[in-house]
Amino acid sequence: MAAQGSRPQASRSPRAAELRLLDAAAEWKERGACHGRNDDAMFPDSNREQKVAAQFCQLRCEVQTECLSYALEADERWGVWGGTTERERERLRRRAQGRAE
Ligand code: SF4
Repeated sequence: MAAQGSRPQASRSPRAAELRLLDAAAEWKERGACHGRNDDAMFPDSNREQKVAAQFCQLRCEVQTECLSYALEADERWGVWGGTTERERERLRRRAQGRAE
């Protein structure tokens, strides 16, 4: 337990990093245009429906950048995030891997 008056030390464990990422995501998720909508709307099955959902993000959402950053960092493979479809994020991941090699 931290002594009174001292700041708690930030943990460097991967689990703590994951929890910080989720905490940060909770803040912007509440401001997302999809907040409160049926979850299925952002997890459509067909590529065509995903493109429609991605357009919704691009036209209506003020936290598109935060959402896409989160999805890439958390490696979200399914659904529409930050105005991108699953295929578009896969392309971004491959491009980033190509640059890292
Ligand atoms: S960018 Fe799209 S998926 Fe992300 S919070 Fe906004 S509306 Fe929801």
